Amino acid sequence: MKIETICVQGGYDPKSGDARTLPLYQSTTYYYKTPEELAHLFDVPKDGHIYSRISNPTTNAFEEKIAMLEGGVGAMATASGMSAVMAAVMNVAHKGDNIISLSSIYGGTFNLFKITLPKFGVNTKFITDDMTDEQIESLIDENTKAIFAETIANPAMIVCDFDRYAKICKKHGILFIVDNTLATPCLVRPFEHGANVIVHSTTKYLDGHASCVGGMIVDGGNFNFRGNPRYQEFYTPDASYHDVIYVDEGGSAAYILKARMQYMRDMGLSPSPFNTWFTNIGTETLHLRMERTSQNALALAKLLKSHKNVEWVLYPGLEDDKFHDIAVKYYKGGFGGMLVFGVKGGRSNAEKFIKNLNLIKQVTHIADVRSCVLHPASTTHRQLSDADLINAGITPNMVRLSVGIENIDDLSKDVSDALDNI
Ligand code: PLP
Repeated sequence: MKIETICVQGGYDPKSGDARTLPLYQSTTYYYKTPEELAHLFDVPKDGHIYSRISNPTTNAFEEKIAMLEGGVGAMATASGMSAVMAAVMNVAHKGDNIISLSSIYGGTFNLFKITLPKFGVNTKFITDDMTDEQIESLIDENTKAIFAETIANPAMIVCDFDRYAKICKKHGILFIVDNTLATPCLVRPFEHGANVIVHSTTKYLDGHASCVGGMIVDGGNFNFRGNPRYQEFYTPDASYHDVIYVDEGGSAAYILKARMQYMRDMGLSPSPFNTWFTNIGTETLHLRMERTSQNALALAKLLKSHKNVEWVLYPGLEDDKFHDIAVKYYKGGFGGMLVFGVKGGRSNAEKFIKNLNLIKQVTHIADVRSCVLHPASTTHRQLSDADLINAGITPNMVRLSVGIENIDDLSKDVSDALDNI
């Protein structure tokens, strides 16, 4: 199936007499007549459902759809994008370990890596994309478990050069984790460029309607854990799960099996089945929305670029954007719906612009069908120090615009009027 067909039909194939649309199994638990049947599932959970903290039929269908869209071997839905990022890292990194991450990432993820994970003994070495390969490689030690990047950094708009980080990861036998939230598999497929694990905030484009918070981890099935001294947990018995050896039990999907059995089971990151059911409906139109949102964003980026009250615009679809060539290499069918720009006159004019908007509303969100706007320095990134703000690519006059799928003439008028009236 092609991407568009997977969006619509992937993950659920009804048998004769079944509901045509994915049913919502709003149930915490599952009935089995004999103790033997249930006992078997405790040995081999993938053969059925026991309890919805661990798995649920509706959620599984949605997971299957996203795994298909990304070209992975399995996926695990979580209650939020943050819990997906957290579990994706903790599935390989424990006390005494470290990861390497680009510093230009979503503020919440930066905070998780910089402040919260160190409390669990997992440290992050932050890098910037202008560092040389040698500089990055010099940070890798025997306890380094992953390199983490976002396809396009929110909101610094730095496009990830997958080939480069994939090569470093391969050379050192380290996992490459990519947050593909803002591109989605409709525009970029990181597994085709060497990523091993993909995470999503499904809250964004996969849902697309600002209705449900959720996350997803997708296993590329393309990393050999067996025998790699960094990942002994994958090929030695797990005492918490009657001595299962994940590479034997899960095969190429060992990573996602371990994530489910250790983190979903023990930390309860599970989403509500209602949310995965709802987000699955959103994903049915993902391909159409990504196309329109990309067209609208490019048109607005061009408009902003030529406006007298705008200092600069960052959007990889613009031919003179610093990351255009890299984006052309990895993006197919558009460059996404988010752009950032600097308003002339600093922070106060950026705030005036936001106040002047009518149609486009200020919300702490992106990737909605409705266009929305935010001032990152005073909101999503306000916990960052000035130095960290600069590392994350944020300036006081920066406005983040998430372009929806409305008519472009209406959006253009709202933006032009708001700028003209500063
Ligand atoms: N990753 C990216 C790129 C994000 O933009 C966000 C949230 O904005 C997250 C992860 C966190 O996701 P959530 O808000 O669903 O927890």
